[in-house]
Amino acid sequence: MSFDRRMLLRNATYLAALAGLTPSRSVLATGLGTNPFTLGVAAGDPWPDGFVIWTRLAPDPLAPHGGMPAQSVPVGWEVAEDEAFSKIARKGQSLARPELGHSVHVELSGLEPHRHYWYRFHVAGSDVSPVGRARTAPPATAPVDRVRIGVAGCQNWEIGYYDAYRALAQENDLDLVFHYGDYIYEAGPRPLGGPIVRQHLGETLYSLDDYRRRYAQYKMDPDLQAAHHACAFAMSFDDHEVNNNWAGEFDQAGTPPEIFALRRFAGLQAWYENVPVRRAQMPRPGGITAYRRLDYGRLLRTHVLDTRSYRTDQPCSDDPWSAGCTPQVHNSPSMLGSVQEAWLDEGLGNGATWNLLAQQVIMMQLDFREPGTQEPIFQTDLWDGYRPARARVIESIRRHGLTNVVVSSGDHHKHAVGSVALRDDDPAGEKVAVEFLATSISSGGDGGGEKASRHLLSNNPNLDLYHDKRGYQVFDITPKRWTTDVRILDHVSAKGAPASTLACYEVRPESPRVQRIA
Ligand code: FE
Ligand code: CA
Repeated sequence: MSFDRRMLLRNATYLAALAGLTPSRSVLATGLGTNPFTLGVAAGDPWPDGFVIWTRLAPDPLAPHGGMPAQSVPVGWEVAEDEAFSKIARKGQSLARPELGHSVHVELSGLEPHRHYWYRFHVAGSDVSPVGRARTAPPATAPVDRVRIGVAGCQNWEIGYYDAYRALAQENDLDLVFHYGDYIYEAGPRPLGGPIVRQHLGETLYSLDDYRRRYAQYKMDPDLQAAHHACAFAMSFDDHEVNNNWAGEFDQAGTPPEIFALRRFAGLQAWYENVPVRRAQMPRPGGITAYRRLDYGRLLRTHVLDTRSYRTDQPCSDDPWSAGCTPQVHNSPSMLGSVQEAWLDEGLGNGATWNLLAQQVIMMQLDFREPGTQEPIFQTDLWDGYRPARARVIESIRRHGLTNVVVSSGDHHKHAVGSVALRDDDPAGEKVAVEFLATSISSGGDGGGEKASRHLLSNNPNLDLYHDKRGYQVFDITPKRWTTDVRILDHVSAKGAPASTLACYEVRPESPRVQRIA
């Protein structure tokens, strides 16, 4: 808020008081019951002297407005150097506003670089929130020994339990979890039975209140909360935060763009309200800016990309698998939009040891043709549908002389490890980046493991692993080598499956090639 505007508001309150009017009933005097923190707490986007801390007040999370009155409520917060909160580093107060679903996003400053902090919130007359932990980033110019990043996403509530999040919460010494999107799914409830283990409340999501309630349902999950409480997240969104396979102005159903824009805004506002991102990522009437950089000293530069908001429509109608959609027409011109693309190109000019493209959909070429068929099949919702855009990213990486680019992606509900080839017509040839596609937390259900992977591996020489189980990945990043652990769970249809390590890959910054080491 500008200084002038603040003065104006202050004067208005003052004049109202003089005139004998009660200043607007903006602040709640009484308590909210014992627990307004049913959705937990979260931290995000660490920088050297702070990170975002988040909560959203919802004493009755599935009721209209989460059971909150239509008023702003002051929320106190504390950040401590220890879990017992005996050494408070920062504290303050924020307003949980009804316009933002009574969410609170605090951007901390003044903390020490690369150390852990604990944070919590409180509201007058209520219990204190759960305690979250997060770690600041190292100073921009510092050499850094090690950074550990988990990767997760695609958490369809109906299809599986979140034991993968429980396991992620127990991973050793994570700095960050990158969430590649599909934090919620927008469909209505499916009949229980078969692969459905629990049901969505409410019908298909269209309004802001619909989306808010769906987030409340998901965020009550204790395993999801445990992961947020353990570590800061770098949040992005994919399609299901709004609508399956949306692309810029277009949804899948061919809704007029000016009408789809309303639904997209509702979905993205609810996303903002429910995730620990900075105010810069708040949707505005002109759109949302979700792409941003996170640096870990000189070791790692992370470019968080938005591959949904600015893309052109997918080629070949709205069926990503349609027959007759030949490779020649997979040429939708833009995936990132020209502004984000220029921003990425500029940001790739850096001296970091590693560059991570933290984004949503598969970037490497992948031919999904069935065994025994001659015609290649490429999925149009992936970078394969946007070949000129992919060629420009490849060209940018080459122009900057980078051999240290790692692509992280999701969306596909499988683990895959491979590389982005310089030329689409020579996938066995020179490579420009490695790619780790992290499987889903729950979407897709228990999964078939290696089944159906053999023909994919033989049709795609740039692919090293393709595995259909739920889980996540962990990047262990050091100056000399990057290690990716591929974690899986046997099942998600019943609670209690432990995580195990399916495979372990190594990359060196001098060469964009993956090597399986376990
Ligand atoms: Fe998904
Ligand atoms: Ca998706």
